[in-house]
Amino acid sequence: MVKLFLIFLMSWSSLGFGRDYPKSDHYNGEKFFNPGLNDEKTLWDVIKWKWNSHAVPWPESVPNKEYLLPLLGEGKKAIVTFINHASFLIQLPGLNILTDPIYSDRMSPFSFLGPKRIRSPGIPFESLPPIDVVLVSHNHYDHLDMETLKQLDGKFHPLFLVPLGDEKLLMVEGIQNVKEMDWWEEIKVKSARFIFTPSQHWSARTLWDKYKSLWGSFMVDAPPAKIYFAGDTGHGPHFLNIKTRLGAPDIALLPIGAYLPRSFMKDHHMDPEEAVKAHQDLGATRSIGMHFGTFHQTDEGIDDPYKALQEAKHKAKINPLEFDVLEQGDSYAF
Ligand code: ZN
Ligand code: ZN
Repeated sequence: MVKLFLIFLMSWSSLGFGRDYPKSDHYNGEKFFNPGLNDEKTLWDVIKWKWNSHAVPWPESVPNKEYLLPLLGEGKKAIVTFINHASFLIQLPGLNILTDPIYSDRMSPFSFLGPKRIRSPGIPFESLPPIDVVLVSHNHYDHLDMETLKQLDGKFHPLFLVPLGDEKLLMVEGIQNVKEMDWWEEIKVKSARFIFTPSQHWSARTLWDKYKSLWGSFMVDAPPAKIYFAGDTGHGPHFLNIKTRLGAPDIALLPIGAYLPRSFMKDHHMDPEEAVKAHQDLGATRSIGMHFGTFHQTDEGIDDPYKALQEAKHKAKINPLEFDVLEQGDSYAF
């Protein structure tokens, strides 16, 4: 009953009676927006997409290969392990970080409806090392998976870094170690700086809270390692901005999936060619592709992001090793 009341309060606050945020180049007093972009999609746009959709079918399930989780030893700055979708484990000396962790079977408010995972997470939940910080890029169900956040809170009580407007979602579920952040705001945990940086995307968990919370990306600056996590994003000027303000990352985790049809997705999801451009804009030493191969969200086939990435690298004439993908459960140490 108490929970129902809190959820009612939350919906009420999402209508504009919640916490006040200062107006900015991405908040007009009522809604967050992408600076300089007229990108809001209507229900009619969604219907048109679905009506004309030529979605390539995906397999029902795909087995994962077996990988052992490496430990951070001497001479390594960091280890990045791909769990699935946009979830990575980042191991730094004395600090373990998860990005947009999702362990649920479906990316949905319901356990019986919505896109279902076709492969298991590359690291079983029980095998996760103690987690210190959880980064949440925005509130879509494939990035803010409440069941996983509650499980992580119960087991590790980590610090949750979330965009402006999302703190109340976690608080109402009893998660209290939460900090919500505006673009360019930063927080220090041990010797690492976490800077919340822009992305070009949107937010909503219900029909009533569209654009009521912010979206973004994160730079984790933990000398000598600097790691960038892009969240969900279209290609925009923010990548160059981030490099100018914070310097080039050693590693960039960039989305390469959920991009078809372009007419609907382009503003909010990069295709692999744009991801290569983002990699170049950021000046990343190395990029790792994400946001593909787990949930069938959009029209492209399961292997298309990988194939298109290879073509895009060839076209851009970059060293193929500079930007690649990891198998679920596989790690990159540097
Ligand atoms: Zn999203
Ligand atoms: Zn997503």
